[in-house]
Amino acid sequence: SDNVTILGAGLAGSEAALQLADRGFRVRLVEMRPGTPTPVHATGACAELVCSNSLKSTKPESAAGMLKAELEALGSHLLAAAHRHAVPAGGALAVDREAFARDVTARIEGHPLVDLVRGEAESLAEAARGADALVVATGPLTSGALAADLARVAGAGHLAFYDAAAPIVMADSLDGGRLFRQSRYEDGSDGAGDYLNAPFTHEEYEAFAAELVAAERVVLRDFETRELFQACQPIEEIARKGLDAPRFGPLKPVGLTDPRTGRRPWAALQLRAEDAHGSCYNLVGFQTNLTFPEQRRVFRLIPGLEQAEFARFGVMHRNTFLDAPRLLDANLRLTAPGAAALGAPVFVAGQLAGTEGYCEALRSGLHAALAVAAELSGSDLPPLPCETAFGALLAYATSPETKDYQPMHVNFGIMEPLAERVRNKRDRYAAYAARGAEALAAYRALLVARGLMPGGPAT
Ligand code: FAD
Repeated sequence: SDNVTILGAGLAGSEAALQLADRGFRVRLVEMRPGTPTPVHATGACAELVCSNSLKSTKPESAAGMLKAELEALGSHLLAAAHRHAVPAGGALAVDREAFARDVTARIEGHPLVDLVRGEAESLAEAARGADALVVATGPLTSGALAADLARVAGAGHLAFYDAAAPIVMADSLDGGRLFRQSRYEDGSDGAGDYLNAPFTHEEYEAFAAELVAAERVVLRDFETRELFQACQPIEEIARKGLDAPRFGPLKPVGLTDPRTGRRPWAALQLRAEDAHGSCYNLVGFQTNLTFPEQRRVFRLIPGLEQAEFARFGVMHRNTFLDAPRLLDANLRLTAPGAAALGAPVFVAGQLAGTEGYCEALRSGLHAALAVAAELSGSDLPPLPCETAFGALLAYATSPETKDYQPMHVNFGIMEPLAERVRNKRDRYAAYAARGAEALAAYRALLVARGLMPGGPAT
């Protein structure tokens, strides 16, 4: 049978290993812990959760709940393990992290087709030797040697070591009465332009700046503080430099004329559409390290954002990830020119592939496993419908249209808008979930028809 090498027995790698082994492939799973530690893992177990023990909401009409339903329908091993070790957490799925990791490790060690090899992989070409396919799932804290090799294969500038993502808000939660559409230095009388602008009066600006400076920040871990702020200044750090500093930085009003006053505002935030449907907007230049509740409170002081719903909060992390829109195809296959010389097809899964979150990592490992199975059995992986939660994320993360990519978790902001506008939020989310479930059922039936998934109803 075919041999697959997987680097990293984290969330994505462990899921991929069990999926491939179940399909009859021989899997060599290479994990560097415990011999070579990462700054955040504490054990040598497979699938160790590094931070929170929560896998987020189980509510069917939430984006995280949709993702769980997809994992379940596709037979995720690690989601099943999470359910076996669930601890009470209201509407969320939280787990006993040690029991969860022990269970996954035992299944991997006990599987006759998985060989768990302890040791640090340092070169892709070496890892690919003797393998029919290689899956790289070494996560946000990929070791230095392998990251250097990946950076070489990916090409200059295509591997990032930090993310610094500005918040993203839902378009339909913005106050169109206050915001105006205009690009800088356009006269704007035609209401055209690529940006929405939130104009501040002098008083609004000072009140906002005062809250920004005083707001609670995330305490970064030691290893993160060293270089993190060199590349990118969070907005609250800029504000700390002086009351006017943001007004000469991300909040500069030059070249803007508020059509309601006919004048240049005292300061202005620009918002840029995040996707082609314009269903969510990025707060330009607002990389931030504020806690999520503080982002919600303080950024709602921005004129026009009083009711803003956040599709994603801003984050600044140590995080190794590929420039997925330019380097990965929809099968998570590495398409960088350097990949061809590696001797086997290379797939990337988990956080390294540019997605964010525990369940996203599981789903990405599962998707890469399906792609490898299709490749090695000579069939085509059916396209994952963009109406599914992971399909939407994959479309966003691998579309060359996506500029300046920062890791993303599933959320309604990146989903294709519904054919008809549904005003009530609950109903709207339920409609997204129903549409997604239907698309997933069709996808799953295609997997079964192509022999990539055992038949029978979804469990
Ligand atoms: P991992 O689970 O990290 O697995 C990668 C594996 O590869 C590790 O076991 C590592 O030891 C191994 N490895 C690395 N380099 C090599 C090498 N050269 N050779 C062999 N093995 C190697 N997401 C959430 O949803 N909730 C959170 O609370 C959360 N907190 C986070 C906190 C931190 C500090 C970080 C960095 C990320 C956090 N994430 C969180 C994001 C993400 O969901 C997790 O990092 C998740 O574990 C990613 O899964 P993965 O499979 O991509 O990587």
